[in-house]
Amino acid sequence: MPSRFEPTLTETAVTESDLTSGWQQFAECAQYAGEVDFFPARGESLRDAKAVCTVCPVKNECLEFALRLKVAHGVWGGLSERERRSLRRERHRVEPRSGLRTSQRTTPPSQHA
Ligand code: SF4
Repeated sequence: MPSRFEPTLTETAVTESDLTSGWQQFAECAQYAGEVDFFPARGESLRDAKAVCTVCPVKNECLEFALRLKVAHGVWGGLSERERRSLRRERHRVEPRSGLRTSQRTTPPSQHA
């Protein structure tokens, strides 16, 4: 059975860094295999999975992995599918080329009062 860190074919390609970074070996969820469901069905509680993520030492790495690969299912980095979609949307509001947030953009001179 593949580990939860092996993306399916529908997900974005895994990079060399994903395979060599090794953060997965510190995943707290590995201690709860078969006890806590990190892929609950729609409407089922995420509480137990999120509680495990809260104390996970690689929570940030896990979240970034799931965001980058656009993993659609399950709890990753302490966030649900919906929460990750919301975070992705929030990040997309950051202007990608300049690195400035929408609120930090300068007003074009033509719009100055
Ligand atoms: S953040 Fe949660 S899902 Fe990710 S590795 Fe840690 S325990 Fe597992």
